[in-house]
Parts: sequence; C-alpha cells; structure tokens
Amino acid sequence: MTTSEPLIVLEHVNKHFGPLHVLQDVSLTVSRGEVVVVIGPSGSGKSTLCRAINRLEPIDGGTITFDGRPLPAEGKALARLRSEVGMVFQSFNLFAHKTILQNVMLGPVKVRKEKPDSVRERAMSLLDRVGIASQADKYPAQLSGGQQQRVAIARALAMQPKALLFDEPTSALDPEMVGEVLDVMTSLAKDGMTMVVVTHEMGFARHAADRVVFMADGQLVEESTPVDFFENPKSERARDFLSKIL
Ligand code: ADP
Ligand code: MG
Repeated sequence: MTTSEPLIVLEHVNKHFGPLHVLQDVSLTVSRGEVVVVIGPSGSGKSTLCRAINRLEPIDGGTITFDGRPLPAEGKALARLRSEVGMVFQSFNLFAHKTILQNVMLGPVKVRKEKPDSVRERAMSLLDRVGIASQADKYPAQLSGGQQQRVAIARALAMQPKALLFDEPTSALDPEMVGEVLDVMTSLAKDGMTMVVVTHEMGFARHAADRVVFMADGQLVEESTPVDFFENPKSERARDFLSKIL
C-alpha cells in the first residue's frame, strides 16, 4: 500500500528541553500508506518525535511538513492539522462521564461542527470495525483496557485523519489484551492507513511495519526494513537493544 508520495516529512529536526538535546537532527519521511514503527530505549525521544508531528511539542530547529505544508503554529490551521493527524496514547484518555458512542462522536461534532446524525452513523460503523458496537452506550469504566483502547482508535478514526500516530498504545494493557488492539492496528495498516507507531511489540514491528526506525539518545540511528533490522541490525546500539528485548 505504500506510495512514494511523502505525507510526513521531518528535515533536520532539533528539540531541546533545557540542556537536554532530545531530538538531534532527525530527518524522516513517511509516505502515504506507509507504516513506520519507531523503536528504541526509554528516554530516546520517541514520544517527543510523535508529539512534534502534530505540534503538541514545538521544535526549535529544522522543519516538519505534513501533506505538503509546514506545520501551522496556531489557529484554525493547527486545529485542522490535529484533526488530520490522529493520535492514540498509552493512556486512552476517554471522557469518563460520556458514553463510548459520545466519546467517538465528540471530535467531529464539537471540533468539526458536523451534523450529529451523520456522525452517529460513522461512529457506530467505526465501533463495529473495532469490535465494540455492542458497548456503545456503556461508559469507559465499564470496559476493559483493551476495549477502551479500541474505542480510542475509533475516536481517532472518526476525524477521518490522513495519518495516525500511536505512542505505545499497548504498554498500559494487561498482556491478554495486547493482541486485540494490535489486531485492529494491523487491519488499519492493511487498509492503507499511514501510521507512525511507537511500540515495544516486536511481533507487530516484524509483521505490520514497512519500515523500522531505531532511535537512541535523540538520534535516528537506523532505518531499515523489518527483516533487515531484526536479522541484521547495522549499529551496535541496535544490536545491544535487541539483545536485551528479544
Ligand atoms: P521516549 O518516548 O523515547 O521514552 P521521550 O520523548 O518521552 O522519550 O523523552 C525523551 C527525553 O526528554 C527524556 O529524557 C525525557 O525525560 C525528556 N523529556 C520529555 N518531555 C519533557 C518535558 N516536557 N520537559 C523536560 N524533559 C522532557
Ligand atoms: Mg515515550
């Protein structure tokens, strides 16, 4: 499904938190339809990279373009960017006092001012797609973690994004619920969704990624196909990382 049309382009991106140089000259192009899995040790800048792409985190050097335009800093253009780049976090961040269906409908109705009737239909079909349609009228606390994360994915999809960013979407889940969330992500990947996925799930990286990016200490150390990365990592740091987790 990968095209050669660039959707997300980072060029020489730098970011500091005080003295900490958290993104060091990071350049990365994600093409339309591509699934890029970002792996690397804790503290290497993976979350900051994701947050920079939808401008939750401003950068202090380099450029990021999305769909041909530099990331907007504010206003309506920023709101549009955020709706075009969905984000799924480790913590599901559902609204506790709203039903599952209301959670999924909220963005399109409140942010995009779409008509509730058409949004409801789309939201129900997305809930069906992630296997939660029968729970639509329940509240988040009545669902398991895996179910809540699937709702969070449906909520992101409800905005009809051009890309989805996942930041360790299964890290907070009990082990038996990881698979159901990865299955939904794999099906999105197969359908051609452009995805950047930070994860420690090496099975997902092997099977769903078009490309694996390895980060360490704020640097993009290595970029390769999953087969190359796992069979033949080029850098010492990647070999060291893999030896600890595999
Ligand atoms: P990862 O997701 O790979 O674990 P992060 O992007 O979360 O890494 O963090 C990279 C580094 O930046 C870490 O050392 C972290 O402590 C630091 N960091 C992240 N966010 C902030 C912040 N808002 N203020 C200061 N330091 C931060
Ligand atoms: Mg992180």
